[in-house]
Parts: sequence; C-alpha cells; structure tokens
Amino acid sequence: MAKSKNREPGCSFCGRTAPDAGNLLAGPNDVFICQSCSKLSQDMFEKSGKDDKPQGAPATVPTAKKEKSLPPLKIPKPHEIYDYLNQYVIGQDQTKKVLSVAVHNHYKRHQQDSHVEAQKAYKDVEIEKSNILMIGPTGTGKTLLARTLAKCLDVPFSISDATTLTEAGYVGEDVENVLLRLIQAADGDISRAERGIIYIDEIDKIARKTENVSITRDVSGEGVQQALLKIIEGTTASVPPSGGRKHPQQEYLKINTEHILFICGGAFVGMDDILRRRQNTQTLGFGEPEKKSAAEQVSNRIEPEDLIRYGLIPEFIGRLPIVTLLSPLTEDDLVRVLTEPKNSMIRQYQKLMAMEDVSLTFAEAGMKELARIAVKKGTGARGLRAILEHLMLEVMFEVPKRGNIKDFNVTKSMVVSQRVSLDTVAESAA
Ligand code: ADP
Repeated sequence: MAKSKNREPGCSFCGRTAPDAGNLLAGPNDVFICQSCSKLSQDMFEKSGKDDKPQGAPATVPTAKKEKSLPPLKIPKPHEIYDYLNQYVIGQDQTKKVLSVAVHNHYKRHQQDSHVEAQKAYKDVEIEKSNILMIGPTGTGKTLLARTLAKCLDVPFSISDATTLTEAGYVGEDVENVLLRLIQAADGDISRAERGIIYIDEIDKIARKTENVSITRDVSGEGVQQALLKIIEGTTASVPPSGGRKHPQQEYLKINTEHILFICGGAFVGMDDILRRRQNTQTLGFGEPEKKSAAEQVSNRIEPEDLIRYGLIPEFIGRLPIVTLLSPLTEDDLVRVLTEPKNSMIRQYQKLMAMEDVSLTFAEAGMKELARIAVKKGTGARGLRAILEHLMLEVMFEVPKRGNIKDFNVTKSMVVSQRVSLDTVAESAA
C-alpha cells in the first residue's frame, strides 16, 4: 500500500477519499478502510466457504479480503532486487535485470488498487499477469534465481517438476499438487500462499510430442500444458489437502492463483537446431553475430514460433509472456561461484572446518582446476558441486584424523587426483 504521507487518506480498497468515503478506519502502514468496503468484506467472509467466488462482489474485493488478513508486501525497487540477486547469483546479468523488473511489476500489480491516483488516472487499464519462462542449460542458476527472488520478497516458495505431472485421470500427479506444495511452504496459510512464487522445473519436458505419436494420447505433454494453463493464468483452484487424486466426497482447499507468480524453467535441448533452421530460411541479422555470446545471439532471435515448434502450445506460451535466457557458466564464472556468493560452497566448507578449528583455504590453481573439470562435464555449477563434495568428503575424513592440523590448503594436485591422502595433508601443510 504505497501511499505518500502528505496525500489525503483514502480507502485502500475502493480508493475513495473523504468526504465520499465517510469515516475511515485506520490500520497499520497507512492502510484505511471505509464503512462500505468493511461491510462488503464482512458479507464476503460470511459467504466464503459456500461459493468459489462471491456473487456480485466488485473486482477489487477479493484482493481486499486477502490484504485484510496480511500486511501489504513491501515491494523492493527493481534495482534493489537486482542487488539482492547479485549477492547470491553469479553472471546472468540480463536475466537478473529482466527478473527484477518483472517481479517488481508483478507485485505492484497485486497492489494496483491501493494506489489511488494511478488507479483514478488509469481505471480501465488492467495490468496483466506476467509469468516468466527461463531457458538455459542445467546448473546455470534457474532454480537458484527463483528461490532467491522469493527470499528477497519474503514470500513462500515451492518447486515442482513438470515431468511428474499428468493430465487428470492418468497415472501421475494432478497439476493441483503444484499448489499444494506452495500451501505447505506457507505452513497452510492460504493467504500467504496466494502471493507466493512457484517454480516449475523441466517445463521443456512437457513439450508436445505429437508429430510422431499416432494412437497414444499425449497425456504427459499437451494435456499437462492445458491443465497448467488455468492455474498459471489465475483461477480459484480446488486442491486436495492431502495430495493425490481428487474424488467427489473430498473437502478441498480453495486457493486463488491470480497473484501467484509462476516461473517455469527448462534447458530446451535442441532449441539451437530450431533457431538455426529458421535462421537458414531468413537473412542473417545485422552486425557480426559470431562476436556475440551464445546467449546474446539466441536472445535476439528467440520467438514464440520457436517455442511452438519446440512443442509448447500457443495458449501456454501466451501465459508466459516474459522469456529470458541464461548462458552457460564459463570457467571464470564457476571460480566465482565457488567463492563469491554469500552462501558460497567454499564458505560453507570453511565454516564446517572452522568448527573443527581448522582454517581451510583453496589454492587459486585448485579452484581453476575444479572449474575446468566442471565445464568439461557440461552440467554447470551442479557438476562443480558434485566434484567439490567428493573431494571435501576426503578432506573432512582425513584432516580430523590427524588431529594436529590447524591449516589446510586444497591444492591443484588434490583436485586432479580427487584424493587427500596423509601425504597430501603433509603437502598442504608444507
Ligand atoms: P538450474 O536450475 O539452472 O539447473 P540450479 O539453480 O539448481 O541450476 O543450480 C544448482 C546449484 O549450483 C545452485 O544451488 C548453486 O549452488 C549453484 N549455482 C548454479 N548457478 C549459479 C550461479 N549463476 N551463481 C551461483 N551459484 C550457482
């Protein structure tokens, strides 16, 4: 409820100011409610539970109902979100900018009715929901970005895997389970869940595969996209509280998905071929594409038609209007991933070793070697984590065994051999 202090107080729900609004009841953080909105919401509360949607209630009131029970979110400015992401995520600069603006606008949309002047000036303008599609190789930070955004905004966050979902009636999970996970992340508080963020991973795996499929129904592809459409776009969904399949005698949790931010992510392996094929039929763009990074080249070229060709249905693409691309992490990026993020992998191990009174350090060449091996594996920072975990297991096993080690330096040869023998312990102390 962003309101400047010197503005005339008005009802935060219908926007009317005195004298039209009559007496206003003040809440915390400059929130006010007039008598008629208060009565309306009272009526609504009495009706809720019987109906999905309150009949005849004005469009703004469902928001009012939720806002009443929760303090309004403090929405950080895009550059503040960007700075926050920078503390945790290396590289992906353009994606961070896109996400900062998109997420800021998403939550502003949530509170659009409370900005009296903007609402008056643009009362016929509805800000549309902007869910996000992140395309990038595995281990480049898609999940990390989504999670960090939720942390920045202090909203509930859940992750679902699109490959586990199937169309209702088939073996697998109903799409409503995606919402159940968010409700669980919000400790059952539906109002909090209704402003949360859901990350749906491996969205590329539910691409339509119909080109070659003849009689079998595409239950895990197009059917799931159709089922997800509704909840992504905004609806009141019925969620079985204990998960699993719906059945008629069940009580459902009702959740409005209108203000839930959906971020979908996928590697979209093979997208390059689609782009290349299309490019071959068009004149190449201007400039010298070979001098641009892969992500820059792709971002200039990706179009909804490419996603359709990949197998996403047009309606589904329409619900994900913000598309952003992540680049593969370079060797230098991966060295930074090891050390720079607030919660970096190395810092975590340093803390663990400090609890053993051991000061843990990494030789520059050792870190570069880790990054080099990870790049070769092609699984981005995930590969890096796996290699480091293996090595650190050795370190954490061997070092306390010696008892008298106060400093331990991880060298390049330890990384290469992936071993920390008693000899290498001596080598590191030398
Ligand atoms: P993706 O979802 O793209 O497959 P993740 O976000 O799950 O990748 O990355 C796995 C782990 O690797 C993260 O938890 C984080 O520790 C690390 N990581 C990945 N990308 C980055 C990055 N750009 N900056 C910092 N850490 C990263």
